[in-house]
Amino acid sequence: MSSAQGSSKDNPQRISILGSTGSIGKSTLDVVSRHPERYKVQALSAHTRVDELFEQCVRFNPAVAVVGSEEAAQRLQDLCGAQNLSIQIEHGAKALEQVAESINTDVVVAAIVGSAGLLSTLAAASAGKRLLLANKESLVMSGELLMNAAKSSGALIMPVDSEHNAIFQSLPSTASGVNTEGIVKILLTASGGPFRQFTPEQLRVVTVQQALKHPNWVMGPKISIDSATLMNKGLEVIEACQLFDMSPDGIEVVVHPESIIHSMVSYKDGSVIAQMGRPDMRTPIAHALAWPERIESGVEPLDFLKVSGLHFEAPDMQRFPLLRLAFEAQREGGTAPTVLNAANEVAVDAFLTGDVAFLQLAEVVEQTLSRSKISPTSDLSTIISADEHARVIARELVQSFL
Ligand code: NAD
Ligand code: MG
Repeated sequence: MSSAQGSSKDNPQRISILGSTGSIGKSTLDVVSRHPERYKVQALSAHTRVDELFEQCVRFNPAVAVVGSEEAAQRLQDLCGAQNLSIQIEHGAKALEQVAESINTDVVVAAIVGSAGLLSTLAAASAGKRLLLANKESLVMSGELLMNAAKSSGALIMPVDSEHNAIFQSLPSTASGVNTEGIVKILLTASGGPFRQFTPEQLRVVTVQQALKHPNWVMGPKISIDSATLMNKGLEVIEACQLFDMSPDGIEVVVHPESIIHSMVSYKDGSVIAQMGRPDMRTPIAHALAWPERIESGVEPLDFLKVSGLHFEAPDMQRFPLLRLAFEAQREGGTAPTVLNAANEVAVDAFLTGDVAFLQLAEVVEQTLSRSKISPTSDLSTIISADEHARVIARELVQSFL
């Protein structure tokens, strides 16, 4: 059991939330604020949104705050100075790693979006923290490395992603997590996103605004686009393989448009265990914070008399090829998931700025994968160079589409 287990009035757990101004970061602060006796905010971080971070500093009085640049740090310093807030203000990626591995941090919430979260997530895993993992891209990029780092340090990785948290809740518990004994398959549910019923002709002309509007969840822009292309589900297939030591063949994606069942586990004896709840990230966050205990999250329980129905269908990998590409990358292994993730990050940025069309997102990823040399090794420098090379190729492809 991790040293970060257990808290009391005299001994609250010290939490560092990396990416506290994002959607997951704010939901985490909402849960934490309901339990001041259990949790003390040690550190908060934002990339550019200094004013929002300052408001969080006033409310939660962390010991440390980290921002993206020297100018942002100066601005936050001025704001805090004017309020007589004494907070250690740092900037840059190294400072995030230092917070993640600090002896003053018990729990790290990895809520930065994309590959920018990789090194701080790895630092938390290597330092044996309780790691609340929202930043799925870091696990996709560095699966084995991250899981091995946690194994050797004794870090407890608690999935925050609602599906993986649901799977964790549906698997047999052990003292240090869960195991997969007796299971046949993981059933990973997907809402299907805003374009579930769109024809290829309709998909060709969808706008950024349409893609950002998820039917069930309110999330940051990158994961919203990934949900619209089903790449989010693809990243989650890889995430599930890594977290639960499964092969891609042991994972089945099931489209469930109501987002009430957050995922399921199917057992040898015919039992299927599902976790259900409202689509509100405070539930998995509260579970990941308190496990094996339960704490209030602010989320109302489901009223089954008001649930109009639960529906299921197979995903369409022809219309949503990024899901197929993610399965293929995980089967290929090595640096293929790193390349997939890097190309997707470049493609999503280009889509958000209007440089590529919706259907070109998959083209950028597919062509980057086919032009990249996939290496079997998984050390950090190999991962970083595979990520950098893939970005160069993906950017060239984006340019060629302009
Ligand atoms: P968001 O865009 O709302 O927030 C991102 C956070 O990361 C912000 O605090 C931002 O300041 C910080 N950030 C951005 N770029 C950075 C950089 N270069 N360096 C340092 N910090 C940076 O994103 P989100 O929706 O909260 O998602 C965060 C992560 O959680 C993603 O990996 C996402 O896939 C995962 N996730 C989110 C949800 C959800 O409901 N939002 C659900 C499951 C998993
Ligand atoms: Mg999810």
